[in-house]
Amino acid sequence: MVERTQAPIMELLEPTDENLRRAGACIARGGLVAFPTETVYGLGADAFDARATARIFEAKRRPSFDPLIVHVASIGEVGRVAEIPGAKARLLMEALWPGPLTLVMPRRAEVPDIVTSGLDTVAVRLPAHPVARAIIAYSGTAVAAPSANPFGYLSPTTAAHVAKGLGDRIDFIVDGGPCAVGVESTVLDMTVDPPHVLRPGGMPAEAIEAVIGPIDSSPAPEAASVAAASPGLLASHYAPRTPLYLVGAGRIGQAKPRGRAAALLIGPSTPESLAAIQGIFDQARCLSPAGDLVEAAAGLFAALHELDGAGFDQIWAERAPGRGLGPAINDRLQKASKK
Ligand code: AMP
Ligand code: MG
Repeated sequence: MVERTQAPIMELLEPTDENLRRAGACIARGGLVAFPTETVYGLGADAFDARATARIFEAKRRPSFDPLIVHVASIGEVGRVAEIPGAKARLLMEALWPGPLTLVMPRRAEVPDIVTSGLDTVAVRLPAHPVARAIIAYSGTAVAAPSANPFGYLSPTTAAHVAKGLGDRIDFIVDGGPCAVGVESTVLDMTVDPPHVLRPGGMPAEAIEAVIGPIDSSPAPEAASVAAASPGLLASHYAPRTPLYLVGAGRIGQAKPRGRAAALLIGPSTPESLAAIQGIFDQARCLSPAGDLVEAAAGLFAALHELDGAGFDQIWAERAPGRGLGPAINDRLQKASKK
């Protein structure tokens, strides 16, 4: 067993049962573990340990304290961190958990301020990924975990992304392969009625409304959901280093690329339509030739990582249509784009 104090060297672990126990134990004694969830890779620490959660901010080089999502192993554990505010929250947990839906609820006093940014609410999620669930269960605690990437950079959807960004600053990375959903969870504020979408994400609004009726999907003012953020600080989240420009859905023809440029398309596309676009760009990449937004979301960050590493002068991306996972994809593209 590697002790944190003697070995600052990160280990990449296969998700064997023994390693999941080790990862859980590491969290239980104040360590940091990166692990896969169905949305993106998370960087987890004991949610009740203020020092351990502070190390998350340090590892991510996050200049401000942004509230963290607390991950639980079962619905029964929610009561340790939050008060379930009413029937709608319970209905959503029962219908849509485990899954990419985070519920903001009144907090319990045992959750340290650093986790909630001093808010009187806490964001809670029950992830679906079996590796995440096993690690949380073995840790015996609730696990605060933001995305496992340096502050402001693209979210990681593979263990290699995590190793590249944070490998020297954390104790373990558990490798569970690429993330199936590929964008962060939908964050829904359950302290207001109708519940309000604070961040579009992997759970489509349509799926939530099918369970509890209408929700408020109007854009949340960034600063209202992030207590300590300075205005505009978070507008360029999830950003690649290469300048990224956006055009409307299906409007890649309106791009005005300069230098070596790549096109990132949502789809649908055909080999012929891609070939035509390749005439204008140095590379054209389509996230889902079939036009499936679930497939497009799953590959979004990996495609951005790859294009960002390929030395282009510009990336031009088209927006997704507004249905299903389209708003989550567009939110990430907007934040990745130059203002
Ligand atoms: P991340 O952990 O990077 O996936 O992002 C967490 C998101 O959840 C941030 O956008 C926060 O603004 C939001 N969030 C976390 N806790 C709260 C809370 N108590 N109230 C409102 N939003 C929250
Ligand atoms: Mg993040």
